[in-house]
Amino acid sequence: MIQRHTTASAATDAPDRGLLAGIDIGGTTTQVVLCDDTLKVVASGERATPARAGGEAMAEAAVDLVTRLARDSGRRVGAIGVGAAGLVDTATGRIVGASDSFVGWAGFPLGEVLSAALGVPAFVENDVNAFLLGEVRAGTATGARSALGITLGTGVGGALWLDGRLWSGPRGAAGEIGHIPGFGDEPCTCGGRGHLETVASGRGIERHYLVTSGRRAGAREIAERAATGEREAIATMRRAAHGAARGILITVGLLDVATVVVGGGVSRAWPVLGPLIHAALEGDPPVSRTAIVVEPSALGGDAVALGAAALAQNALAPRTTRA
Ligand SMILES: [Zn+2]
Repeated sequence: MIQRHTTASAATDAPDRGLLAGIDIGGTTTQVVLCDDTLKVVASGERATPARAGGEAMAEAAVDLVTRLARDSGRRVGAIGVGAAGLVDTATGRIVGASDSFVGWAGFPLGEVLSAALGVPAFVENDVNAFLLGEVRAGTATGARSALGITLGTGVGGALWLDGRLWSGPRGAAGEIGHIPGFGDEPCTCGGRGHLETVASGRGIERHYLVTSGRRAGAREIAERAATGEREAIATMRRAAHGAARGILITVGLLDVATVVVGGGVSRAWPVLGPLIHAALEGDPPVSRTAIVVEPSALGGDAVALGAAALAQNALAPRTTRA
């Protein structure tokens, strides 16, 4: 992880380094946690993301929240980590690309703006990478040397933790499991067709259920109907689980990663989804015969913010002492 220290503040040489602020800027909600050095949450809060009001407004909302939480807790913030939706240039803290739901986000120098506003170093990472970092430091994959993170939400996100560090690839797009092809031919949000996201995302689940049953329902409700034994709902969830399992098997085959953490809103249906994923994996074991451990996120809605706090901590710590 190469991160940018946008402001060389006193945070690194003062005896009290202050709290770590972890910020999760999502499409609907911005969440902040203030943590100590053990990633214990001291304070937390959230507010609506002004996603349509532009980058400045989104950054300002985050700054206000951090400032208020720090004031209320009577503590100083020493460094900021951010998990942000979109493609991120981690070296500059700039948002490179974003979906249409974020106005004025692509190109926005988020790290620089936050660092200037709060007077401490700021480090920015893609939100799915931050999610996986959170799970590796304090959640389901704690201590794993290598892991795959998948978020099944409105879309499908992916992240790779390889040999003790996030692997983002030269263009920040490594681990984008949602956009690998070979899953039918439905159009994907990215402009491609037949990507994993079209079968395993909440949107893909809802669309397939509507087409096969003639009934309109949200992904959570479809999962509940599957749990009660409804045929079309089970078939839809099985299709999503098979897609996710195939994505996992491809990753395991390529990278020999045996630990998988599944997060995102759809993963709340784990009692239905989990056994279907496990069944699909058992039917098609990797050639290495590696036992693949697939588990739901332990940190749930806090994973991105906690991972962002861990990101700031990692970035400040000497490389020799912390991976
Ligand atoms: Zn796609």
